[in-house]
Amino acid sequence: MKNLKNALLLKQLYIQKEIGFCYTSSIPYCDDEPNLSLPHNLEELQKQANSCHLCQLSKSRTNVVFGEGNPKARLMFVGEGPGATEDSMGRPFVGKSGELLTKMIENVLLLKREDVYIANIVKCRPPNNRTPHEEEAYTCLPYLQKQIELIKPQIIVSLGATAYRYLTNDTTGITKIRGTIHTQNGYKLIPTYHPSYLLRNPSAKKEAFEDLKLIKSLL
Ligand code: URA
Repeated sequence: MKNLKNALLLKQLYIQKEIGFCYTSSIPYCDDEPNLSLPHNLEELQKQANSCHLCQLSKSRTNVVFGEGNPKARLMFVGEGPGATEDSMGRPFVGKSGELLTKMIENVLLLKREDVYIANIVKCRPPNNRTPHEEEAYTCLPYLQKQIELIKPQIIVSLGATAYRYLTNDTTGITKIRGTIHTQNGYKLIPTYHPSYLLRNPSAKKEAFEDLKLIKSLL
């Protein structure tokens, strides 16, 4: 929880700056350590995420996009962060790339969208759909890690380079790493292309289809 602690500290310093402090000579936390542990159930975790202001993305969001799906899903998908449609609806993957992801789940994996769980690395929309900054991703990551701990999926499919990078701390490019299996923290992680990349590069759909067949064979 070091990132969360640092983010809280930073937030407190920003508040002090806003009310006129130019410097502080002491560590601002003089109270007892706050309780930094996250709730052990999804509903409470969602409530906490909904009122999160730990990074700058909270300032421009319309809705927190916590994630949705079967809380006992065997298969989980992790994207990068909400886009405009997701931000306005408060749901993950409901725009154009969401339509493609839903087709991939239903037509290739032969599952219902409600059977799986869908979440993102960051829960608030990055302005202009930019890639989340490192500090935003690391500040938000504890929520996703807790979701994974509670849902206990067998397989996590990371969609695109950003999701793979923050789930593994490995910066290998997605073209090289897609379709490989990584066993970690009690689940198998399989990276594949992000649906928005597939919309821009339809020729990569063939490889994504191979990845989905691999996922299906493991379920
Ligand atoms: N792209 C993502 O990475 N996540 C969403 O929820 C929507 C689009």
